[in-house]
Amino acid sequence: ITEKKIAEATLHRNQDVLNKAQRIAHLGSLEWDLVTNTVKWSDEVYRILGFQPQEVEATYDAFLARIIPSDKEKMANAINKAVENNTPYSIEYRIVRPDGSEVLVHESGEVFKNDAGEALYMVCTVHDITERKLAEAELKLADNVFSHTDEAIIVTGADKKVLRINQAFTVISGFSEKETVGKSPDELLKSGEHDDEFYHNIWACLSEQGMWEGEVIGRRKSGQLFPGWHNMSVVRDELGDIIQYISIFSDITEKKRAEESIRRLAQFDQLTGLPNRSLFNDRLQHAISRAERAKTSVGLMFIDLDRFKNVNDTLGHQAGDRLLQIISERLCGCVRTQDTVARLGGDEFTIVLEDLKHAEDAAIVAEKILEGLSHTIDLGGHEIIPGASIGISIFPEDGGDNECIIKNADIAMYQAKQKGRNRYQFYTQEFSQHADLKFHMEKSLRHALENNELEVYYQPQVNLKNGVIAGAEALVRWNSPEKGLLSPAEFLPFAEENGLIEPIGVWVLETACTQAKAWQDHGMTPVRMSVNIAGYQITHGFIVESTKAALKKSGLSAEFLELEITEDFVMGHLDKSVEKLNALQELGVSLAIDDFGTGYSSLSYLKKLPINRLKIDRSFVMDMSGDKDDEAIVSAIIAMAKILGLSVTAEGAECDGHINFLVKECCEEVQGYYFSKPVPEAEFRNLLVSSFDLPIDDSPKLEYGATYGKRS
Ligand code: C2E
Ligand code: MG
Ligand code: MG
Repeated sequence: ITEKKIAEATLHRNQDVLNKAQRIAHLGSLEWDLVTNTVKWSDEVYRILGFQPQEVEATYDAFLARIIPSDKEKMANAINKAVENNTPYSIEYRIVRPDGSEVLVHESGEVFKNDAGEALYMVCTVHDITERKLAEAELKLADNVFSHTDEAIIVTGADKKVLRINQAFTVISGFSEKETVGKSPDELLKSGEHDDEFYHNIWACLSEQGMWEGEVIGRRKSGQLFPGWHNMSVVRDELGDIIQYISIFSDITEKKRAEESIRRLAQFDQLTGLPNRSLFNDRLQHAISRAERAKTSVGLMFIDLDRFKNVNDTLGHQAGDRLLQIISERLCGCVRTQDTVARLGGDEFTIVLEDLKHAEDAAIVAEKILEGLSHTIDLGGHEIIPGASIGISIFPEDGGDNECIIKNADIAMYQAKQKGRNRYQFYTQEFSQHADLKFHMEKSLRHALENNELEVYYQPQVNLKNGVIAGAEALVRWNSPEKGLLSPAEFLPFAEENGLIEPIGVWVLETACTQAKAWQDHGMTPVRMSVNIAGYQITHGFIVESTKAALKKSGLSAEFLELEITEDFVMGHLDKSVEKLNALQELGVSLAIDDFGTGYSSLSYLKKLPINRLKIDRSFVMDMSGDKDDEAIVSAIIAMAKILGLSVTAEGAECDGHINFLVKECCEEVQGYYFSKPVPEAEFRNLLVSSFDLPIDDSPKLEYGATYGKRS
């Protein structure tokens, strides 16, 4: 039996080798006896199906049961056809294992027949191709990405010569695969924009860190340069040796263009193309730092166009824009290339003069600018001669930082404007103090309005015939928490400068009207309420509307309201005032010329203006005692008022002598300390219920037949 045993052992061994080979190859085999309809599975078939050999009986149906339903028919058809036609078959299908996992199987089979042509049995191989298919799919995906991405990809060997490129590389660079493979990408794309060290550093970084990322300016086949954003990495084998370099890059020309236009939007003025406030601040900062190091000076100019608003208002915004463009061109023409001309907004320009040797050099530039601007500009048929007010501050003399230098140039410009426009002005300390005060005043005045710190005092206007109060003048006061009670002279000039006089004036007007109505409502004899109106309210404000509103709001009848406008203002702004004064008169309020005698009135105008009263300036009345000239002026004004049919009030009467003189001259009314200073409302109410005694005078009886007596 030795031979038999040896044969058995060999068979056994062959069987074992076959099984192992099948396991290694994931390839099972299946034998189907078509005569007895018995099936034999190799060990690997069990494994592919996910069974232990003892768990399941090898039958055709048991096999079929594991195939996923949608593939079953395909499989049955293939086998039937193979048996019928006696042809080999090959098919792929999916199997579900008992644990739910899916396996992709490739099956090939053949039917074997006897000599009589009867099908005897079938042998099939069952190959688990799941992993291979997955790997193939992954490879296909990677290939798809490689071919279809918008980013250029270059694969080079360890020798840095191109092995493969994708379509995007050709699109971006213009080089075909044929022109590229075998060449060094550095040579192909070198733009000349980077030095050798730049490339050297990239390769050094790659070999040390395995990757590099950054911007490289490349050259297309056409010769055109382009910025690319590169991601480069190294591929090493298991031993750590470099086998490939992969470079992925995108063309960032558009991105850079977009970034540039965003930068321009953020840093440059759209209308003139000049640096805007933010870039100007940067440039000034840099200029100051440079000057600090080099021990030189920086000049800063603030330029404000004179009467630009007029152009905008009368010729329209388009003309205004055009003017600004021409001005910016002219300004740029007056400075060196290293100087910065910027537009801060509106008609405000600045110039940073770098590396100044002497402060006087800034004056030379300023003169050049004033000259350069002064040439006529034609704006759609309208000829304009531009002018500017220029303020100059110098680093380091006038300030050590941006903020200080800017503030002081602004102050200097303001002063230039005040001195009469179309001139330049260096910053000076004294003016700065005024500006500081102004700034502080403005802030606290705004606060005053919001916090009800303003109060109206009233001063009686007394009828000289009978000593009765005929009117009250409303005079504003400021109860400042810091400075105590302030008279109008201490804060109204500032309010006129910054326009706050408008809301203050409206507030006084409303308060006075409401007060007058309240006195009437309390049964007191109605008196005329005089309210002062600032010139600004007439030229810039809405005096007619505000008056109408104050009367409506308070319910005061217009006949009890008198508005006082200074002679000085009316005569200086005749054309602008007349229309508004007429409109005010139409409302039914009366108008008085205040501080009369100080403003060079033209008699002919006095006749034309819709006025009802002259108020003789207190300076004449106060100086009368002993000054014959002043007495003469006062009598002349009273006489003139009579001729013109105007009422007359003398201000500033302080003593018996003043009153006696005024009575003698038949002045109708007097407002002065003789009777009362301006007082708070509660005190004025007490005055209202009594009347004043007039001084006793021995001089001849007067027209009005006034009774004289000592003031009670
Ligand atoms: P004004 O309209 O001529 O007011 C008369 C000023 O003369 C008041 O000064 C008053 O106190 C003062 N005065 C009256 N009688 C005498 C006197 O016998 N002797 C002396 N030494 N002074 C006398 P006040 O209240 O300081 O006002 C000064 C100026 O401020 C006013 O002059 C007026 O032009 C302006 N003002 C006052 N309140 C307002 C207001 O609400 N709006 C506007 N726009 N201006 C106002
Ligand atoms: Mg007045
Ligand atoms: Mg006055």
